[in-house]
Amino acid sequence: MTTKLKLARLNDGPEIFYTIQGEGKNLGFPSIFVRLSLCNLYCVWCDTDYTWNWQHTPYPHLRDTEPGYQKYDKAQHIVMMEVEALMEAVGQHPCKHVVITGGEPLVQHKALLPFAQRLKSEGYFIEYETNGTIIPNEALDIYSDQYNVSIKLSNAGVLTEERIRPEAISFFAQSSKSYFKFVVDSPQDLSEVLDLVQNYDIPSDKVYLMPQGTSQALLRQKQQWLVALCKEQGFRYTDRLHIHIYGDKRGV
Ligand code: SF4
Repeated sequence: MTTKLKLARLNDGPEIFYTIQGEGKNLGFPSIFVRLSLCNLYCVWCDTDYTWNWQHTPYPHLRDTEPGYQKYDKAQHIVMMEVEALMEAVGQHPCKHVVITGGEPLVQHKALLPFAQRLKSEGYFIEYETNGTIIPNEALDIYSDQYNVSIKLSNAGVLTEERIRPEAISFFAQSSKSYFKFVVDSPQDLSEVLDLVQNYDIPSDKVYLMPQGTSQALLRQKQQWLVALCKEQGFRYTDRLHIHIYGDKRGV
């Protein structure tokens, strides 16, 4: 049986695009983004809610009050792709650095293996954007170069037992491939970050704090106090460079 991955749909095709990494350790690196559909969480401020906020699901979202906003028709927002088609799409770009993102890409960790194997056999660097709740299977881990682990804080509006999965956090904390990126909405969020860093023994130089926001104005406003917190704690600050360059747009 041929394994297919579920990708987010953008216009008539899958959401695969060549841009620069806008966040975290590899900020500024030219990268091919492969956006998978599906997520196991439901963050209220999620900016890729078209990967999970399906019609007839109960999850609230900050955009609920926006005129015209409505939940998504699942069948319309997923593209199924086999490895050959994925390699062809990725191979169109002059770059050997792939960011596999979502949604939560590790929801499909078993189906990801053949794609990851092919990418590695052709010399690609593979980084994953993950919410840190799912342990990738051992085989997939072998073909991974980097995990950008964004454990969700209470500002995401997700039940604690769903966003904090101790076994998964321990796995990532012990992996030399992991970097931790926390989405910070207000200075009060810091105590949760400090608890996680302490409880899971995460080295401070692997911790990035990133402002929550999908506009330049919001990011700049939060930058002021967030940079100060990073300096105090020895954490790294990461911006959301793509928002400054392109705005809150898809496929760029
Ligand atoms: S984990 Fe990521 S993709 Fe999933 S709902 Fe939260 S922000 Fe969105």
